[in-house]
Amino acid sequence: MMRRIERVCVVGAGLTGLACALAAARHGLQVTVLDAMGAPRSMPAHVNVMPNMLRELLALGVAGECARLGFVYHGIDVVDRVGRVLVKLSTERLAGPLYPAALGIELDVLLQVLTQAAQRAGVTLLRNASVQDVRRRRGQPWLQVASGDEMPCDLVLLAGGAQTPLRTALFPLAQPPRTDSQAWWYTTVQRPVRLDRPCMAMGRKGHKVHVVPVRADRASVVLVEPIQDAVSVPMDEASAHLRRSLAAFAPQVRELALQVHEGTEVIRRPIFNGLLDDPWSPEGVLAVGTCAHAIPPHFGQSAALGFEDAVVLGELLAQTRDAEALVKAFTARRLPRVRRIHEITSMAARWDAEPEPSTDLQALSVALGEVVARQA
Ligand SMILES: Cc1cc2nc3c(=O)[nH]c(=O)nc-3n(C[C@H](O)[C@H](O)[C@H](O)COP(=O)(O)OP(=O)(O)OC[C@H]3O[C@@H](n4cnc5c(N)ncnc54)[C@H](O)[C@@H]3O)c2cc1C
Repeated sequence: MMRRIERVCVVGAGLTGLACALAAARHGLQVTVLDAMGAPRSMPAHVNVMPNMLRELLALGVAGECARLGFVYHGIDVVDRVGRVLVKLSTERLAGPLYPAALGIELDVLLQVLTQAAQRAGVTLLRNASVQDVRRRRGQPWLQVASGDEMPCDLVLLAGGAQTPLRTALFPLAQPPRTDSQAWWYTTVQRPVRLDRPCMAMGRKGHKVHVVPVRADRASVVLVEPIQDAVSVPMDEASAHLRRSLAAFAPQVRELALQVHEGTEVIRRPIFNGLLDDPWSPEGVLAVGTCAHAIPPHFGQSAALGFEDAVVLGELLAQTRDAEALVKAFTARRLPRVRRIHEITSMAARWDAEPEPSTDLQALSVALGEVVARQA
């Protein structure tokens, strides 16, 4: 029997959950987002809003706010160990002539923009609300919340991330996402005045640094290194490790090392790789974001996929309110594209860590660019 979607519950107030909640609320649905955390974890990190990601943020109605709060740029420089520019990667304007090609923005700020937009659209956000299970009763999914509360709805969007225990509970046959062979360390520094676009500095095998301007006065610094170099570093030595490691790169990165001190906040971002197979929707629950597709971050596409999920969800809601039809159409439309992007980014991650004779990251980046230039 058809179940008409009127009430949507979203598990997870990360980038994907908030974007999907916003898309559903803009289509007139009653939307509640539940997140286990009392507040978003503040992190010294950024999101590199690549051209296709900005296009999706525009469709969600928040591109202008992101451009105002972030640092807009055109192009990315790749430099060698002595600071010579090896390649200038271009960035196309996929969000139209009124918007820049791309921008860097602090992760916390992007979360805030989406939270505020979702709340303005009427979304209810419940924090300290850990969802333990989803059961089907009287033809409807019911959320079981840790407080003992139960919440019925017509559709659950599972946006709990790659590591949520709900993924294993609801998709018992799915492989758990695996961790990547590289570690990604993040901090922020004062933006050097001449840094007007991201710079990717190459180091010895498996090592590189991304520097991304995120505000007029701040830039984000990310060290990528083989996991075996990182696992033995205790977190209370993370800033010393980062400072030492940055000193081995090009001069423009070396000078940033001087800004990393003992008290500087540094985080290590866990990187997961895992793709759910069809179906993404058992029992009225639709998996979205990194819960459905955790991809390596090498071409900056992880959050973009979550935003694409939100945009596609909105488009499908305009066509049908039948829950079964919607989740089927969603998986059919999303899975082939996500599978291709997962393949390309997984190959990039492998080649980045362990170059092979056929390694051609630039050609791979062009192949990816062709896929993401098309609308989701
Ligand atoms: C340091 C850092 C840097 C990043 N940089 C980039 C970048 O440059 N480019 C890019 O594209 N992406 C970037 N990302 C984004 C990232 O890779 C993901 O794509 C993005 O966070 C979207 O993930 P998500 O919303 O699907 O899941 P998550 O961000 O993992 O959010 C899941 C949320 O669900 C909540 N949750 C989990 N289980 C439950 C439960 N049972 N009940 C209630 N709540 C639950 C968690 O508390 C969490 O808030 C970055 C992320 C980090 C952490």
